[in-house]
Amino acid sequence: MSVSEQGKVRLPFDNSYARLPERFYARVAPSIAPAPALIKLNVQLAAALGLDAEALASPEGVAILAGSRVGEGSEPLAMAYAGHQFGNFVRQLGDGRANLLGEVIGLDGVRYDIQLKGSGRTPFSRNGDGRAALGPVLREYIVSEAMATMGVPTTRSLAAVATGQAVFRENVLPGAVLTRVATSHLRVGTFQYFFAQRDVEGTRTLADYAIARHYPEAAHAQRRYRAFLDGVVARQARLVAQWMQLGFIHGVMNTDNTSISGETIDYGPCAFIEAYHSRTVFSSIDHQGRYSNSNQPHAMHWNLARLAETLLPLLMEEEGGDEAGLASAYAALEQFGVQFEAALNEGMRKKIGLAAEREGDTALVEDLLNRMEENRADFTLTFRGLCSAAAGTGDDVRKMFADPAAFDTWEVAWRARLAQEEMPSEERAARMRRTNPVYIPRNHLVEAALRSATDDKDFQPFEDLLAVLANPYEERAGLERYALPARPEEYVSKTFCGT
Ligand code: AMP
Ligand code: MG
Repeated sequence: MSVSEQGKVRLPFDNSYARLPERFYARVAPSIAPAPALIKLNVQLAAALGLDAEALASPEGVAILAGSRVGEGSEPLAMAYAGHQFGNFVRQLGDGRANLLGEVIGLDGVRYDIQLKGSGRTPFSRNGDGRAALGPVLREYIVSEAMATMGVPTTRSLAAVATGQAVFRENVLPGAVLTRVATSHLRVGTFQYFFAQRDVEGTRTLADYAIARHYPEAAHAQRRYRAFLDGVVARQARLVAQWMQLGFIHGVMNTDNTSISGETIDYGPCAFIEAYHSRTVFSSIDHQGRYSNSNQPHAMHWNLARLAETLLPLLMEEEGGDEAGLASAYAALEQFGVQFEAALNEGMRKKIGLAAEREGDTALVEDLLNRMEENRADFTLTFRGLCSAAAGTGDDVRKMFADPAAFDTWEVAWRARLAQEEMPSEERAARMRRTNPVYIPRNHLVEAALRSATDDKDFQPFEDLLAVLANPYEERAGLERYALPARPEEYVSKTFCGT
């Protein structure tokens, strides 16, 4: 992209979704923002996408990022999808406040969606205003970028811009638009949209598109749709395991928020656990704990079963029979638990400093988690504290436990297990520090940054938090307060979608 002689900002759009049949989306331009102003541009991400950050930050670039101007080559559209929301099926959801501007090919050769979120009404808006408030936009920016830094597959945030328009929620709030980048915005709910209409050809077209874009190896498999389903199952199993290794609770794992590419998508009422509890829930709308911490793998398995359902006609066809097609779907789904457990166990082993796998390791980790739960130990700081304990340079970790003796007895078993692996303790500690972050987007820090921006137009706390989270593994002097759990008066027990 460049600013040409006429001052035109060019994004090198190369759109594929807009080539799909008309019933896959609604062509709609974003709404005009009265006074677009750039809040944040992700310069590194822009560079990785082959975009010119300077041009994006120019008035014309900002107008494009606010939705006020349609850039050259952009074919804005709202994607159609359905979805189960907390178990209830809705035949038509769709992008009610998002616009897919188009796709670009990154320097890594991968195709990325450039999508605006909060850019006005679409044919899928139902009663919504199509807008986003500043707070949730900044929250998604902070958390998605932190997740990316920690190596978790996720949608990214390219920019946040203020629209200059008020948004009416419980209060009057400043409006904003997030530019979201994803390897695609295909969801389980996209497949459900065609399934609900008994549109098998639509499902086939969508599956072939998803295969070409995300699972090209499946195209050559003997059973391509089974290979595709296997691929989604495997990626989602790894993804949920990664969440749980970080104490991340997505909060709203509806099928429309479950991506086909295996990226974390839709940062609404998400939150990181502080004092560990397996059944922690933060979301204000999750009354039954459907998406509680320990329920996340079950919720994902259920969502994948919904995906498998939509693929049944294709699976039956490729197996040459209804029974065989059904068996194929079950066999694919059965892999989820196996792969999730394997990924989780491997990750947790690394967190406690074990390189190899031995019998009893899973029990050792579970014993630690139980003791953490009984003693309200901070999830992040306990694992971080283990790094120093492994190096023999601190006993801070025991202080995380209401009863430090609960840690001491576990420590004996842990040290006995560590002794079975030859590794210099400093090297082990260094490895552990690369998998156990010291800084995470703690809810009270995120809330404070959002509050300053919304109430006082002060974006410094947002910038400061981003800078801290850009390097989550290296403890730095002066940043102590970013590592600490919330004080009781700061504690955020409920999070909101904010839509
Ligand atoms: P979410 O809870 O963000 O996953 O959104 C669920 C559905 O509601 C999607 O179809 C969204 O497009 C739609 N939606 C959420 N917020 C709004 C809004 N402010 N205006 C219109 N549609 C919305
Ligand atoms: Mg959503």
